[in-house]
Amino acid sequence: MEYTEEDLIPLSALQHLVFCERQCALIHVEQAWDENRFTAEGRIMHEHVHEGGEESRGDVRIERGVPLRSLKLGLVGKADVVEFHRTEGDEWAPFPVEHKRGKPKPDQCDKVQLCGQAMCLEEMLGIEVSSGAIFYGRTRHRLNVEFDNSLRAETEKVARQAHELIRSGTTPKPVFTKKCKTCSLSERCLPQVFQKGRSVKRYLTQALREE
Ligand code: SF4
Repeated sequence: MEYTEEDLIPLSALQHLVFCERQCALIHVEQAWDENRFTAEGRIMHEHVHEGGEESRGDVRIERGVPLRSLKLGLVGKADVVEFHRTEGDEWAPFPVEHKRGKPKPDQCDKVQLCGQAMCLEEMLGIEVSSGAIFYGRTRHRLNVEFDNSLRAETEKVARQAHELIRSGTTPKPVFTKKCKTCSLSERCLPQVFQKGRSVKRYLTQALREE
């Protein structure tokens, strides 16, 4: 099945969904967005990357802010950077590079987003994209990512889930985890207050005691 142009959702929804379903719904269903230190640093980093324009370095051509779309996954967005590496057959192999402000995360959210970019490029250019990289600003480290069958299957699954969630128009209840500490929407979400089964009265009593 292919999606139509009207069905397309932002590529960033994949990363949001893997990070937290509620965050994905708050952003893509309720259109909520709060900037915090982490998102501001990330935004500035992306703006800086996109400003660079085109560049050639030997056998590598670099394109920035590349528009992406996939009707198979139902996604639309932009790649920070796509490097085109000259192959032995004198062709150009695309190699997407995503820039992140932090460090590698324990979950797959960054890899799924990058794989989504690669699958968009494959559909748009009609060629295979076998690997890419994520550059982490805090560690100044470039992590190479192979787009193997398992990562591709996970990316397709996450894309389907993101479509279902956005189509449902409902926002899941919060589940408080350590991710909430870095979430830009924590003040709007209040996961410790509204977590399922949690007593608001008990939360307020405890919060007043801690003041
Ligand atoms: S604060 Fe926690 S539960 Fe709420 S959206 Fe962010 S990560 Fe999800």
